[in-house]
Amino acid sequence: AVFDQLTDSLEAAWSKLKKEDVLTKDNIKEPMKDIRRALLEADVSLPVVRRFVKSVSEKAIGMGVVRGVRPDQQLVKVVNDELVGLMGGEMVGIEFAKSGPTVILMAGLQGVGKTTACGKLALFCKKKGKSVMMVATDVYRPAAIDQLVTLGKQVEVPVFEAGNQLRPAEIAKRGLAEGKKQGIDVIIVDTAGRLQVDRGMMDELKQIKQVVNPTEVLLVVDAMTGQEAAGLVASFNLEIGITGAILTKLDGDSRGGAALSVKEVSNKPIKFVGEGEGMTALEPFYPDRMASRILGMGDVLTFVEKAQEVMVKEDAELMQKRIMEAKFDFNDFLAQTRNLARMGSMSNIMKFLPGMNKVSPQQIREAEKSLKIMESMINSMTPKERADPDLLAKSPSRRRRVANGSGRSQEQVSALVAQLFQMRVRMKSLATMMQGGSIPGMEG
Ligand code: GDP
Repeated sequence: AVFDQLTDSLEAAWSKLKKEDVLTKDNIKEPMKDIRRALLEADVSLPVVRRFVKSVSEKAIGMGVVRGVRPDQQLVKVVNDELVGLMGGEMVGIEFAKSGPTVILMAGLQGVGKTTACGKLALFCKKKGKSVMMVATDVYRPAAIDQLVTLGKQVEVPVFEAGNQLRPAEIAKRGLAEGKKQGIDVIIVDTAGRLQVDRGMMDELKQIKQVVNPTEVLLVVDAMTGQEAAGLVASFNLEIGITGAILTKLDGDSRGGAALSVKEVSNKPIKFVGEGEGMTALEPFYPDRMASRILGMGDVLTFVEKAQEVMVKEDAELMQKRIMEAKFDFNDFLAQTRNLARMGSMSNIMKFLPGMNKVSPQQIREAEKSLKIMESMINSMTPKERADPDLLAKSPSRRRRVANGSGRSQEQVSALVAQLFQMRVRMKSLATMMQGGSIPGMEG
């Protein structure tokens, strides 16, 4: 089936890491080559592969160790998250019109499964409780109208047709009027396909689009055409403006590259995938489900996520405990400032804190500067001094050494030590208050 090959090739990448302790620049080189090759073999376009590999490498190296999780499992997780992002992140469904009928214009080359997709989509909308009508505008292929009528009978949806003597845009216009008259919720307009993209087809689609003013314009593409499908989505979008794609024949022996490339190449989401000839073989496109199908490692992903959550929770609990016991030291101080740095610059964070938007940029810059100064002093402390600030509080010679080491004055070092002790008190009372206790010194 589709993705089998990709799944197998990626397997080689993970297996090379099984004996390593941690992901490094060096030991991910070979696995990244495997991943690159696997994606190219799946017919993902080269620029997309390059960006993907670069991004995965950067994230993998910066990951650090998660207790109990092997590096190969970590890499699976990074690749999974990048795949999900590559495919657009969230599922994007059909947008239904707020008032009046939802008009879905279907476009695509001949033989990709457009007419079949009309029937499938009609059934999908019907199951959502909508009344549906299909409109047949393919006046060129003699059997096209019959095919839609037959599908309509199969899914029990009326089909509007007006023979093959009128212009497609005129038929679409009449179909829309009829649908409105009957109070239909969803009107699906099937259009003529050509063997390849040509001016005539694009112009005709533009005319129909202008007449029916669709809520959705969906381009149907064939997964078997790989990265070409992604290119088609991009060019149809430039020409007529589309809202998404339907990827068909994902049940065949396609290599799956289209599913991975469409969003990145065209910036339009895949909204549905077709996986069979039957009318029920249409599924909304979920990037996360597709990614875990590609990797075939759902359980590993869940495991790594849990481990990461536990670590974050343990860190938070540990910090809470240290605060309550007033043991908050310079190591914690550093860890906290680094957390802040990871979340973005201080000015960014301030914007989101209530009451903080009144702080001037000048004040923020000064706060950032003083954090840097504090960091430089802490970096000049010995590990013992960081863990036990009392050592510094009691010894002027230690404070002098830190001052010299960091290029600061002894007064600055003394002030920092004093600040830490003040912080201990303040943080503890804050934590107590948040736990529902009262603030010390505030009771009668
Ligand atoms: P159109 O020319 O784009 O309207 O294409 P059709 O809807 O007539 O479909 C062309 C052929 O592809 C038909 O034989 C369909 O049964 C088949 N087909 C359409 N969608 C799928 C799919 O998702 N999977 C498979 N295996 N076949 C499909």
